Amino acid sequence: MAVIGGGIIGTAVARRLLQLRPGIDVLLLEKEDRLAAHQSGRNSGVVHAGIYYRPGSLKATLCRRGVGLLREFCTENGLGYDPCGKLLVALDQTERSRLYVLHERAITNGVPGVRLLGAAELTDVEPHVRGIAGLHSPDTAIVDFAAVTRQLGADMEKRGGTLRLGHRVLGIHQDAREVVLTTDRGEYQVDTVVLCAGLHSDALAQLAGDERDPRIVPFRGSYLLLRPDRRHLVRGLIYPVPDPSMPFLGVHLTRRIDGEVLVGPNAVLAVAREGYQIRNLDIAHLARVAGYPGFRRMARRHWRTGVGEVLGAASRRSFIRIARRYVPELSVRDVVSGPAGVRAQAVDADGTLVDDFRINRIGRVTAVRNAPSPGATSALAIAEYVADAHFSGGR
Ligand SMILES: Cc1cc2nc3c(=O)[nH]c(=O)nc-3n(C[C@H](O)[C@H](O)[C@H](O)COP(=O)(O)OP(=O)(O)OC[C@H]3O[C@@H](n4cnc5c(N)ncnc54)[C@H](O)[C@@H]3O)c2cc1C
Repeated sequence: MAVIGGGIIGTAVARRLLQLRPGIDVLLLEKEDRLAAHQSGRNSGVVHAGIYYRPGSLKATLCRRGVGLLREFCTENGLGYDPCGKLLVALDQTERSRLYVLHERAITNGVPGVRLLGAAELTDVEPHVRGIAGLHSPDTAIVDFAAVTRQLGADMEKRGGTLRLGHRVLGIHQDAREVVLTTDRGEYQVDTVVLCAGLHSDALAQLAGDERDPRIVPFRGSYLLLRPDRRHLVRGLIYPVPDPSMPFLGVHLTRRIDGEVLVGPNAVLAVAREGYQIRNLDIAHLARVAGYPGFRRMARRHWRTGVGEVLGAASRRSFIRIARRYVPELSVRDVVSGPAGVRAQAVDADGTLVDDFRINRIGRVTAVRNAPSPGATSALAIAEYVADAHFSGGR
């Protein structure tokens, strides 16, 4: 069998298949020359505890399960895992009432230790923060998801799996007996396939015979980095109270496991599927996105937020203006340009941003069609979900 995509989900699925059936042939195909080249190596590095997600959803259940599996995997393999904690900060009464709802939700989802804080208690957790109330999650942690992905890949190979880097899948043809994968380096015949192609998940699912929608609308998120002498302004993770109508969590301040502190990310339409910089501009891609009715409906619905985010991206000053609402001591002089990532966000034809993970089966192919944040946190649990169902004939 084959897995397409060497991000954290693809490597975790390949490893899980071998864990369940030692000795089977598992082939992992990745188009880049390394693992974790895209979302899995370009994210905030936060092990989300499961606060936000609708109880009973795949996100809620797989995130909670994923946290435990990830912590165990990091401990077993000597990878850094720092439970530095997360503070959600409310700035006004509307956000305070949303915090109560999130608190209830976190408890229902089984998130340990979450606690509502009054204004005076905020500085016990984050001395430089200002706000009128907070929600503290001491279990939220940070890791290096790229390092986790590489370790999953190594573990998969140790168990007898085959990793083929630099192999781009161009065609998927299935019949009653097998699946033929055409790559730019030759063909492979396998009995089953799992697609974990992130930003390309819709295109590959379609090649396998699945419906066109939902389609991936990629959103770029860029970060700033705090200068070393200002990193003390952030102890752990400082987050806004999310807008329930948006799937993104807003500009946050995030300590990374290597000691850097990120400010961001914003969310703007990416100029290409892997459009990390403006010079990656792909006109055909933009035309395809603009021609998708689901995108146009989504844009109409979210245009206000969209305009705000674009302005945030256009100027470092407006970016910092947002972050200063939480940490007033921050100034434009405290930051330098940082990395950027592109989120694979699936959008349905009616313009709805697909909120939950979406995984479906097309004959001999299982497609992970939507796995945005907390996809990295949940990867080991998504792998269980996919691989266990694979052998039990479900899903
Ligand atoms: C800015 C940003 C911040 C985020 N922050 C967090 C966070 O703090 N915590 C968290 O849990 N999640 C976070 N996420 C989400 C998380 O990164 C993703 O959910 C996760 O990485 C998805 O993993 P993946 O393996 O599906 O995708 P990817 O890592 O994108 O991997 C897909 C792989 O498929 C390969 N591929 C695609 N097409 C082909 C083809 N035709 N042939 C061969 N290979 C192919 C690609 O090259 C790629 O390597 C964030 C994401 C972004 C972008």
